[in-house]
Amino acid sequence: MYGRYGVDQLGNFLFILYIILAVISFVYPPVIFICYPIIIYTLFRMFSKQYYKRRAENDWYLQKTAGIRKFFKRQQNKWKYRKTHKYLKCPHCHQYLRVPRGKGEITVTCPSCHQQFDQRT
Ligand SMILES: [Zn+2]
Repeated sequence: MYGRYGVDQLGNFLFILYIILAVISFVYPPVIFICYPIIIYTLFRMFSKQYYKRRAENDWYLQKTAGIRKFFKRQQNKWKYRKTHKYLKCPHCHQYLRVPRGKGEITVTCPSCHQQFDQRT
């Protein structure tokens, strides 16, 4: 693998997609014809020596999935800090805010639009 590109986020996504489609192909066999190009492309990317092109593809993938990844990261953080913090949206600009829990009635100042509103935590 020395000098080869290896695995990145796009490679992981394509491999998981391949596995899902391979499982589906047990039920519906024609799906296997979609699986082959995906795994061939995944392996081609892994063994490629053209770092610049593979990195550009991965950057494109990361840029297109930024919203989805941000959503899941926020859900993960909501769950992680559920006992100490409360997540809410600014009523003016809809920015997500994190405020401490159990402080009673607090005045929240949005860091994005600087509007203030009262919130029970
Ligand atoms: Zn705001």
